[in-house]
Amino acid sequence: MNASPAPTTSLDLGGVTLTYVPDGEFRAEPGVAYPGGHEDLFTDGLDVLDEDGMLVLSVGAVLVTTGDRRVLVDAGIGARTIPLVRPGTSRDAYMRGGALLENLRELGVRPEDVDAVLLTHLHADHVGWIGDESADGVPTFPNAEYWLSEDEWDAWAGPGQEGDAVGPRPHELRIIGARRRHLVEGSEPVEGVTAVATVGHTPGHTAFSVQGTRRRAFIVGDAVHCPAEVLHPDLRWVGDHDAATAVRTRTDIADRVAREGAVLVGPHFPDAVFRRYDPAATPSLTPHPL
Ligand SMILES: [Zn+2]
Repeated sequence: MNASPAPTTSLDLGGVTLTYVPDGEFRAEPGVAYPGGHEDLFTDGLDVLDEDGMLVLSVGAVLVTTGDRRVLVDAGIGARTIPLVRPGTSRDAYMRGGALLENLRELGVRPEDVDAVLLTHLHADHVGWIGDESADGVPTFPNAEYWLSEDEWDAWAGPGQEGDAVGPRPHELRIIGARRRHLVEGSEPVEGVTAVATVGHTPGHTAFSVQGTRRRAFIVGDAVHCPAEVLHPDLRWVGDHDAATAVRTRTDIADRVAREGAVLVGPHFPDAVFRRYDPAATPSLTPHPL
């Protein structure tokens, strides 16, 4: 079976519902995504490639609904395609978005209903719907405050970052900068949602632990891109800022999720973003029952 970008999917944790809301998709050459070797992608029966042998990643946001709060974790790519062609590769690699607002609308959520955006990090595929480039300074979600770690803000908002294709655009930084709240380890920007420092992929990457009355979940952001990285934490993603720290962070996440029995939420995972991790003798990461 071939992998596909994940569809809209909800998981009720008890008093808190997580909904994966697609924006688009990401296709990458396995050998480019994992320059140190990618054989481990194929050892566990995980379906992560499309019919052309390209790695498939979902791209979207996680909507957290609790009480009367509507909170997004990350904000997609936006209505654009970012080509990812590398010298020496031939196949069509890209990140493409555009569907987030329409998919939110189908869930009954208007942009003005979103009262917070929790940012795992500031890469382009996580901030693309912050605001419209042609209406500089006008936020897409007019009532939202933006939560992120200070290290992440400092890494991208300082001088010399402009023009980094994988980073935020100037209008996005201006909108976030005017409305930002800083996360630290243990911050609870929304009741039941706790910030967990998970650096390595970027200098201030933050994951979120979500506690419902029946279940706990862990939204990994880009600390884990592909299910195979949970089973093989030493797979080295090309875009990791600090590869050795990223490997340690992935190992810690696998341990934590196993210890807590938490649902692992990988917003870049193909097919199923909600997964059950079983650390048994032969570890597995299977779709979580919904
Ligand atoms: Zn990403």
